[in-house]
Amino acid sequence: MKIAIVGGGISGLATAFHLARLLPAAEITLFERAPHPGGTMRTVEREGFRFEAGGNGFLTSKPHTLALVQAAGAEHLLLRSSDAARRRFIFNGALHRLPESPPAFLGSRLLTLPAKLRVLAEVFIPPRRAGGEETLQSFGYRRLGRAFTDTFLDAMTAGIYASTPADLSLQAAFPAVAALEREHGGLFRGMLAKRRREAGPGGVLMSFRGGVGSFIDHLAGLLGSASARAAR
Ligand SMILES: Cc1cc2nc3c(=O)[nH]c(=O)nc-3n(C[C@H](O)[C@H](O)[C@H](O)COP(=O)(O)OP(=O)(O)OC[C@H]3O[C@@H](n4cnc5c(N)ncnc54)[C@H](O)[C@@H]3O)c2cc1C
Repeated sequence: MKIAIVGGGISGLATAFHLARLLPAAEITLFERAPHPGGTMRTVEREGFRFEAGGNGFLTSKPHTLALVQAAGAEHLLLRSSDAARRRFIFNGALHRLPESPPAFLGSRLLTLPAKLRVLAEVFIPPRRAGGEETLQSFGYRRLGRAFTDTFLDAMTAGIYASTPADLSLQAAFPAVAALEREHGGLFRGMLAKRRREAGPGGVLMSFRGGVGSFIDHLAGLLGSASARAAR
């Protein structure tokens, strides 16, 4: 059987990897137009600094990525994020530390008092009745207010997807958040219910020794030796 995969980003590489294991007799050809595999996920070294061109890690609470790393025998490359990296800042004229607790949020200068009260009012906002997709921006404006959405959700989507809330589908990009409203009627209600049920810690942010590029090279190397070949 001949199989062609177009695109050697992480999606194409993962697909080729799984197919090569499922169908060892298949002839898999991965077409990639760039001179290197990995697509958006690429690590660049310049003058002693390491830059990630796209993604710089993944959460272990998303089990598929970790499962792929394990299946590919790349656990030795895993690198847990430093606790220092948990301190994040938002710049809007000045650097503000991202608040990580309710008291820090209330004391933060990132939002005015009315905007903070609007966030707290989330618990009184009824769930959306209409089905179908909604942008993260529409969801944020509806549940948490404009100021929170334009400050916090905008920074979050820039960091995760290099995108904006207006361009992202809530259901596609943040399905767990959509589920909180659908299943519990709201975010605060949902988070409280989950905290009661799941006593364990959330996911840990992981990357790879040498950057995400080292995992891409590892995966691409396995494919080269597993009858998949890259073509341009
Ligand atoms: C700045 C930034 C930060 C991010 N941070 C994170 C993060 O921290 N964690 C995380 O999990 N995700 C993050 N992401 C998202 C993540 O990088 C992407 O979701 C993921 O890399 C997409 O992989 P992909 O293979 O689907 O697509 P791509 O990486 O876009 O790969 C598609 C590949 O297909 C090739 N291609 C396209 N058309 C053709 C063609 N006709 N013929 C041959 N080849 C073709 C392209 O050259 C490319 O190599 C980030 C994204 C960005 C931009």
